[in-house]
Amino acid sequence: MDDAFFWCYPWDLLDDDLDAAVARLSGEIGVTGLTVAAVTASVDAVRPRIRPVRVRQPAAAHFRPDSTRYEATRIRPGVASSKSGRNPLELIAKAAGRSGLKLRARLTLFDNEALAQRHPMAACVDAYGQPSVARLCTNNPDVREYALAVVDDLTSNYPLSAIELESSDFAGRAASVAPSECGVEPTEALSALLAMCFCAACRQRADEAGLDPETVAQSVRELADRVFRLDSTAPNSWNDVMESDDRTRVFAESHSSASVRLVQSICDRAATPIVMHVFRAGRLNALDVAAARICHAVSIVPTRADGASGVDDLAGFVSRCGGPERVEIGLAVHPPVTTDGPTLVRAVQHWVRAGHRTLGLSHYGLAPEPSLDWVRQALRFARRDGRVGAGRPLRTS
Ligand SMILES: [Zn+2]
Repeated sequence: MDDAFFWCYPWDLLDDDLDAAVARLSGEIGVTGLTVAAVTASVDAVRPRIRPVRVRQPAAAHFRPDSTRYEATRIRPGVASSKSGRNPLELIAKAAGRSGLKLRARLTLFDNEALAQRHPMAACVDAYGQPSVARLCTNNPDVREYALAVVDDLTSNYPLSAIELESSDFAGRAASVAPSECGVEPTEALSALLAMCFCAACRQRADEAGLDPETVAQSVRELADRVFRLDSTAPNSWNDVMESDDRTRVFAESHSSASVRLVQSICDRAATPIVMHVFRAGRLNALDVAAARICHAVSIVPTRADGASGVDDLAGFVSRCGGPERVEIGLAVHPPVTTDGPTLVRAVQHWVRAGHRTLGLSHYGLAPEPSLDWVRQALRFARRDGRVGAGRPLRTS
C-alpha cells in the first residue's frame, strides 16, 4: 500500500484547531494524505468530536474561484459563505504542506441545488418533463465547460496530488429515491428510469443516435408507470430496464458514452491524476470499467467492513479495470459500518494484501474518537506488514 487518505469536509478541519488536527493525522494516526471536499453536494451531518455537533451545509464550492478560468461557461461555482472571506482550500493546503501530507480535492460537481435552480437550462429533465431542482445534466455544454473550468482552476492554483470525482455518471445522488419519500419500493430500476434525462442537450444527442426522444420518453414512462402500478412485470434492476426496451437501452448507452467523454475531457485537461468514485450497491457497469481505463484509478466503497466486498464479481471488475493498482478502496472507519478496531485492522490487511495501493478513509468529521485510534492501529499493522510504501505517486499513464 502506498497511501491512506482521510476524507474530510473543509469545515471539519476549520472548526477544529487546523494545524493541530492535521499534525495529529500525519503523526499519531499515520495517514499520508487528506482528500478535502472542495465542491460538495448538500450535507446534513452530526459530528461526534467536533463542535458544533450538527452541520447543515448547502451545495457549494469551498475555494475562491479564479474567474479567468470560467470564461467558456455561464456557470460559476456557488461559493460557501466563510468567515472573513477566507479560502478554506488554501488554508488546508498550507496546513497539509506544513505536516507533509498529500492533498487531494474531491468534487461533487453535478448534484447542486443552487446551480440547478440558478441555471434551469442546465438541469436534468425527467421523462415526465419535470426539471430537476438538484441535478445538472452532464450533457449540457455549459455544465461540461463548468466541470473543466473547476478542474483547471484547482489543478492550476493548489498543490494537489490528485482530483477525486464523485457522482460523475448520469444518475448522481439526486436520482436516488429515499424509501421514506416514495410510495412504492424505490428499486434500482425506478431510480434509473427517473434519472434518464430528456433536456434539450440529451434530446439532441438522441436525435444524433437515430432515436426519437419523445418515443424514448414514452417508453421510459411506461416502464416507470409499471412500477407505480405495482405491476408484476415491472422492472426491478438496471438489467431489467436494459432488457425491457431496445430504444431505452440505446438511449441509456448514449448517456453513458456522454459521461465517459466528459471524464475523458477532464483527464485530458487536468494537470494531475483523476480518480473517479463509483458507487453502486452491488452493481458495477461498463461505464465504471471505461472510467477506470481513462482515469488513473477508480475508488469503490465495499459495502461490508469485514473484507467481503458486498459487490457482485469485484475480482472480475478489478481485473477488467487493469488490476488492483487501478482500484482504490474506500473504507468507512466508524459505525454503523465499522464498530471496533480489530474489524478495521482485518479490512485494511485484506485489501492491502489483495494489492490495492491506495485507501480512502471515511469520514474524518463523522469519526468518533475511538475510530481515530482504530485507524491508527490499522495503519500501524499495515506498516508492520511491510506493505506501506513511501507513497509512490500515481502512475500517469
Ligand atoms: Zn440532459
